[in-house]
Amino acid sequence: MSEEKKTSLESIGEFGLIEELTKDFKNKRGSTIYGVGDDAAVIEKDGENVMLVSTDALVEGIHFNLMYTPLMHLGYKAVVVNLSDIYAMNGTAEQITVTIAASSRFPKEALEELYKGIKKACDIYEVDLVGGDTTSSVSGLMISITAIGTAKKEDVVYRNGGKENELIVVTGDLGAAYMGLQILEREKSVYKANPDIQPDLDGFDYILERQLKPEARKDIVKFLAELGVKPTSMIDVSDGLASELFHLCTQSDLGAVIYDEKLPIDTSVSTTAIDFDISPTTCVLNGGEDYELLFSIKQEDFDKIKGNPHMTVIGHYAAKDSGLYLVDKQGAAIQLKAQGWNHFHGQKGN
Ligand code: ADP
Ligand code: MG
Repeated sequence: MSEEKKTSLESIGEFGLIEELTKDFKNKRGSTIYGVGDDAAVIEKDGENVMLVSTDALVEGIHFNLMYTPLMHLGYKAVVVNLSDIYAMNGTAEQITVTIAASSRFPKEALEELYKGIKKACDIYEVDLVGGDTTSSVSGLMISITAIGTAKKEDVVYRNGGKENELIVVTGDLGAAYMGLQILEREKSVYKANPDIQPDLDGFDYILERQLKPEARKDIVKFLAELGVKPTSMIDVSDGLASELFHLCTQSDLGAVIYDEKLPIDTSVSTTAIDFDISPTTCVLNGGEDYELLFSIKQEDFDKIKGNPHMTVIGHYAAKDSGLYLVDKQGAAIQLKAQGWNHFHGQKGN
């Protein structure tokens, strides 16, 4: 290996790396319905139902900073981000396993705080903690959670099921978690420069909560079932809208058009973004960690979701060769590039 050319992880990027590492693995088991490439793997259960499996890790210094992240919130968030992937398959989350690696800097009490948050999420989302592993690390804390869920085979929604002209819908609002992070980072810098200054977090409750204690959209899976709408493709928004839309389009072999004026953004996010000299649209497109659901529906299902306060139609799928575009408020079409968080540039992401 020492004679071979070395490729930096930064140059290949997260998605390129996953593809390279997994390309020689062919599924051998008839029970593997869908392997690498979606929010969760889909495994045969009993002919009628499938099992959904997804894993995400949170690493200190990459995904969280304990200077401003309470351990209880971190435990809660670590569970939520995993359950989000099960809901993104239109499934029900049922169990989790939790693996922690902690350095000697962490006393038992700190890990108990972490587990209080894990317990709270297990109670709220009605999932059971069924196992895990505990080990030490040279430095810092790492939490890896595997979520297990179920769905009827016919109800599972993949990233690749979209069709031209279908409507693209997003839940809740976007960009808040990213702005929350900007506030926390700003106050951290102020504190580092002068530890006597108290952090000024007043008035930022919503965006701070979206960053520190996000929720997964279990409710949407239920609403969609009640409305009789089965999305044709779906993904959760962990890396920012542009990146997730890019995944849906690539896997469904389509292009898309979305409209700036339709993007759901809370007023507190736009005003904070403008204060930080960041365009609110950039927050929505490239911020991360919203854990909303992004999906497509057939045109004929529009009436069923019209006026629903949890769902916003932001655009539609188009032919692959027409590309991926944002129509801005002046009507100009701007080509979108996937700019999700890139770990290998030392930023956040899952
Ligand atoms: P998400 O953001 O929904 O958690 P990821 O972008 O992390 O999804 O992963 C995309 C796909 O690649 C998933 O199917 C995931 O299981 C798979 N994957 C990620 N990392 C690895 C790895 N190191 N080895 C095998 N599969 C992986
Ligand atoms: Mg996902």
